[in-house]
Amino acid sequence: MEKLTYPHYTHQCGWNAMLPARQPRPALNQDISVDYAVIGAGYTGLAIARRLRELAPDATIAVLEATTVGEGSSARNSGFTGADVLPRNASIEMADKARIQSGFFTEAFEWLMQIIRDNKIDCDMQQVGSIRAAATERGEASLRNVAEVARVNQIAHTVLSREDIHRRIGSAYYRFGLFMSDTWLLQPAALIRGLADALPKDIALYENTPVLKLCKRDGWVLETANGVVKCRNVAFATNAFIRKFGYLKSRMATIYTYAAITGEIPDDRLGELGESPAWGLLPSHRLGTTLRRIGRNRLMVRSLYAHEAELDAKEAHAKLKDRFERRWPNLRGVQFEYMWAGTTAFTMNGSPWWGRVEDGLYASGGCNGSGITKGTMLGRHLAELMLGKGDHARMTSAMGTANWIAPEPFRTIGFNIISTIESRKAGLEM
Ligand SMILES: Cc1cc2nc3c(=O)[nH]c(=O)nc-3n(C[C@H](O)[C@H](O)[C@H](O)COP(=O)(O)OP(=O)(O)OC[C@H]3O[C@@H](n4cnc5c(N)ncnc54)[C@H](O)[C@@H]3O)c2cc1C
Repeated sequence: MEKLTYPHYTHQCGWNAMLPARQPRPALNQDISVDYAVIGAGYTGLAIARRLRELAPDATIAVLEATTVGEGSSARNSGFTGADVLPRNASIEMADKARIQSGFFTEAFEWLMQIIRDNKIDCDMQQVGSIRAAATERGEASLRNVAEVARVNQIAHTVLSREDIHRRIGSAYYRFGLFMSDTWLLQPAALIRGLADALPKDIALYENTPVLKLCKRDGWVLETANGVVKCRNVAFATNAFIRKFGYLKSRMATIYTYAAITGEIPDDRLGELGESPAWGLLPSHRLGTTLRRIGRNRLMVRSLYAHEAELDAKEAHAKLKDRFERRWPNLRGVQFEYMWAGTTAFTMNGSPWWGRVEDGLYASGGCNGSGITKGTMLGRHLAELMLGKGDHARMTSAMGTANWIAPEPFRTIGFNIISTIESRKAGLEM
């Protein structure tokens, strides 16, 4: 099989399918020359393009997207975001670092909110908060650490008992939780479509235009099926798919994770979804399960991880269903209407890779499970770096930088070992 340079999924993105159809921008069908080319129209790529335009009003900019906006991972996620992306492994020793990162996130989140407001992007965005929940003793211990960091950094939070969580979400599965009021929930496909459609008119966005090859020839040359892009500067906003071009191979791995949304749950059973009209729940372990109530009458489950390739669809469905039914045994008859996989870029130490790869070639990737705000933040700062205005040292000291990952076959062996160990640790959080 041909080696793809971009992600290909077996299922349509459920969030995108729930929206009215959108007309994609035309694919590139001629040779062009621009000052800046951005590969990938997710949160990172669109932030790069918009910030370049803000700081270099006369520059010519093109964004090339392999699929259509609304079908990439920026639409395939769970839609949790906010200004304070406090990691689930936060400890009191990390409180200072978390505060510095929080400054970066807050700035990016406010910028994103301004774009949403200015362009009236309707993405069901609501500050409903999130429940971080633990089903196990180990999970509870790690959440108590997060609570301590939140207390020291004065981040608003409330401790929840099993009964509190049960009342809110209709499931008695969890033993301990933290409610963080600053989390926002949104419809991710509506947001990324809105951001793409709100790009300044003189930024050229080409959809269904995968970049197939990149070479250096008096600047950079990007080859696509029906046209070549010549440019001085190129930014990779493709997450771990930059490795398909030979770069950052030992820094990132692609991990697929899954989500499903139920059909509409009948009115006479809505009491079983808890008394909160809108809620989102994040797990205490990184292999755990995320849950959301969507609209009045649907639930979303996000779980499972696979290294570099999708799982068998039947297996993924059965595992997601098992997670759903363990939490709501009374809703056993409810079926999933949508199920899909999405990619994230995994880095060994959880830090992104961000910066200049070589002359005129820049990249940002590895914002893992919090790319709405983090991708926006990293993309915005990458544009500044490309224009000679960014501070590389300040960003890497705040965010760290992705460290080395072993090549194949050790990588797959390592992933399998880590995932077995972590699955045991996660236990019922999965
Ligand atoms: C199921 C799931 C749940 C998640 N939940 C959350 C959440 O609740 N909150 C949160 O903040 N984050 C969440 N994430 C993570 C979030 O989706 C990512 O961090 C985010 O999408 C990263 O944005 P990005 O722009 O860097 O990369 P992407 O969104 O992956 O965008 C990269 C784009 O590049 C394009 N591309 C790749 N290769 C090429 C090529 N060769 N040529 C042209 N284009 C190319 C791709 O098609 C894609 O559209 C979740 C992810 C998944 C999969």
